[in-house]
Amino acid sequence: MRPLPDLAGADAPFWQALRRRELRVQRCGNCGAYRFPAARTCPHCRSDEAAWVAVAPAGVVETWCVFHRAYFDGLPVPYTVIQVRLDCGVRLFSNPIDIEPDALRIGLEVEAAFDEITPEVTLLKFKPRRA
Ligand SMILES: [Zn+2]
Repeated sequence: MRPLPDLAGADAPFWQALRRRELRVQRCGNCGAYRFPAARTCPHCRSDEAAWVAVAPAGVVETWCVFHRAYFDGLPVPYTVIQVRLDCGVRLFSNPIDIEPDALRIGLEVEAAFDEITPEVTLLKFKPRRA
């Protein structure tokens, strides 16, 4: 069994949104900065006012790593982990879909792919952005 996210944790609104094929992150109610994962206070202005808002499900690949060693049961190797910077500025880790490892480039434009791996869990992955 592969590792699964904690759906009931502080990032619950993120996971619930993915079920609806929507991407939501926290936005500071004071300065407007976006952040993910969830944090109690804004790293820019320290305000504790925040809401989960939908953001454009698009970004660019900043870097990547191909794992050849198995760290988790149920995750066959090799697999690729990418760091994506969303258009709203948030950085997160994910996996590419329909992108061969040797086709990855810094700055590659990608868009969200919603991968329903169980009836409860949808993972956020990224595929090449359509022109
Ligand atoms: Zn702020």
